[in-house]
Amino acid sequence: MNTLSDVATIKELLARHGFRFSKSLGQNFIIDPTVCPRMAQSCGAGQGVGVLEIGPGIGVLTEQLAQFAEKVVAIELDERLLPVLDETLGAFDNVRVIHGDVLKTDLHKLLEENFFGMKAAVCANLPYYITSPVLMYLLESRLPVESITVMVQKEAADRLCAKVGSRDAGAVTVAVNYYAEAEKLFDVPAGSFLPAPKVNSSVIRLTVRPAPPVALEDEALFFRMVKAIFAQRRKTAANSVSAGLGIPKSDVIAALAAIGQEENARAERFDLEQLAAFANALKI
Ligand code: SAM
Repeated sequence: MNTLSDVATIKELLARHGFRFSKSLGQNFIIDPTVCPRMAQSCGAGQGVGVLEIGPGIGVLTEQLAQFAEKVVAIELDERLLPVLDETLGAFDNVRVIHGDVLKTDLHKLLEENFFGMKAAVCANLPYYITSPVLMYLLESRLPVESITVMVQKEAADRLCAKVGSRDAGAVTVAVNYYAEAEKLFDVPAGSFLPAPKVNSSVIRLTVRPAPPVALEDEALFFRMVKAIFAQRRKTAANSVSAGLGIPKSDVIAALAAIGQEENARAERFDLEQLAAFANALKI
């Protein structure tokens, strides 16, 4: 059963419900029939697994997840889609659609109430205007999920999956790597969506780490330092950290010396271990 990726079916369904796409809500629905089955398989949906979906749209991914997972909870912000989802997902008794904004939802409570005794995973074709806030919300709140399998804009995927310590890495790469192992699974061209967005997409999987890979003395200081270093990556890390955190430059240079880094090192010279050691060596 995979009719919800068929363009004629989607158009007929949406016309019947008087629905018009909202650009501001990031509404691009999948019309490539191979994408959702691959995503459902990649996220580990199976018996004993509860899957949280963000932004079900008309339910094209939801129906795939529902066929394999023990339970699916899907949060949709656009209330115009609720009657559509009632129709498309009505046959599944293991799906619950919740009307709301994922960023304003208590996801810990939601998981506790719905996935008790199950392993949990997130799987979604994310609305691109909130990619980073959603991922950081899931990771920073330490939501008890084993993995997060999401479609994001290709450029975002490249950044999220970059090696920390390479030119492609940014502050978000460091943050994601601290909480999870990121890997790109496959690319999805713009023509796989209705309407077609201007950008290509990729599906990535974040496998959530049971514990951070580095020991930090002060997590908040580490993230403030990382933000400062990557905000102006052409500046030396010493200048960025000194200005951004208000620490005398001589103290920052002393910290760099203590971890064996040159005083003019820039962002791409630091891997995760060195960033952690740098933050731990800062005197604040
Ligand atoms: N899952 C469907 C698909 O793959 O075809 C739709 C994906 S579409 C890219 C993103 C969906 O997220 C839309 O249905 C949109 O209404 C919904 N959405 C946008 N912002 C949201 C938010 N803050 N919370 C929950 N859903 C949101």
